[in-house]
Amino acid sequence: MARLDIANVSKLFGSTKAVDDFSITVEDGELVCLLGPSGSGKSTLLRMIGGFEKPTYGSMTIDGEEVIHLPPEKRPTGMVFQSHALWSHMNVFKNIAFGLKLRRLPKAEIERRVEAVLELVGLSGYGQRLTHQLSGGQQQRVALARSLVLEPKILLLDEPFASLDQHLRERLREEVRDIQQRLKITTLFVTHAQDEALSVADRIVVLRDGRTEQIARPAEVYREPATPFVAGFIGQMN
Ligand code: ADP
Ligand code: MG
Repeated sequence: MARLDIANVSKLFGSTKAVDDFSITVEDGELVCLLGPSGSGKSTLLRMIGGFEKPTYGSMTIDGEEVIHLPPEKRPTGMVFQSHALWSHMNVFKNIAFGLKLRRLPKAEIERRVEAVLELVGLSGYGQRLTHQLSGGQQQRVALARSLVLEPKILLLDEPFASLDQHLRERLREEVRDIQQRLKITTLFVTHAQDEALSVADRIVVLRDGRTEQIARPAEVYREPATPFVAGFIGQMN
């Protein structure tokens, strides 16, 4: 478990302010959804937390330690992207074990951890399958397992189910919520889908052009939108 503090973070790309003075404290074990239309700065924010982009201004601490100068592999974060980039020529086990091998863990320990995480994502018995033989949903489960096996303190999910059909998306987001609660892992979940954020989040951050429109619990965002933009965006749901 971990607490994430982001204070006055901005990111400029030339004259584009991708993220404009963003602040939040995410509590231990909380699931926060970053919600907003395309181009609102969701991915940039997540990538800064994961260490793939450096903020132009501001600070980020995890359990009180400044992380801004740490590269991704030194951060206690795990990231899952929309395009999962699994190695299709490797089986499921090897895809998941790769990061543990880099850490030079003993073979028995690697096997134990991969089996445990396969069970967690509902893929027990799939270790020897090649990833290109799996369905889209199963591939995203492998991507999630590959991230979780490294036991991150903070899980970062960037539209992980956006390429899947609606039915599968609904199932997977419930599964992620379930796993997140079992592990009590602090999680940031990026989505542009209002229904997704409203159904899984403890709190929702609504972003627009890099600026924060509202940070609140789902029921509050729904019933008391802070701005006309939020009202309109959430209202598009039905
Ligand atoms: P979202 O994930 O909400 O769709 P992004 O964080 O990807 O939004 O993008 C926010 C803004 O920053 C957009 O205007 C986008 O064009 C710009 N942007 C993102 N990444 C880069 C980059 N590497 N170089 C230049 N502009 C970028
Ligand atoms: Mg994005």
